[in-house]
Amino acid sequence: MSAVSIIAENIEDCDGQVGILSGIAYLPNEIADFIQNKVPSFKLIYSKTTSSKYYGNTCPKCGVLSGDFHLHSEPGAPFFPTTEEEARMLYLKPVPINEPVKVKAGIGFGIGEMILEHAKRI
Ligand SMILES: [Zn+2]
Repeated sequence: MSAVSIIAENIEDCDGQVGILSGIAYLPNEIADFIQNKVPSFKLIYSKTTSSKYYGNTCPKCGVLSGDFHLHSEPGAPFFPTTEEEARMLYLKPVPINEPVKVKAGIGFGIGEMILEHAKRI
């Protein structure tokens, strides 16, 4: 199945650092629409693990949430590449917005740079 993650290339609250977002509780509609247009299974859904709603990756067939913890938190997980080879297995697509946006999410640091450098741009 397809899984989506968002890399923020310039986080104002964090001195312009690159970060990977997870547990995204709020996204502007223009970004959510852009992503859902390509990957409809990325949606705002309730997680029993976190007891909260966030934009997560769901199974297109049965709707079950593939939780961000499993996608982000373990080294070697899809959105936690530990080698250039793992980063190269990811695809990057820019979201066509040119203005700062506000999101509500957790942020992971230290991995985004490698993904930006090595993932395939589509
Ligand atoms: Zn399923």
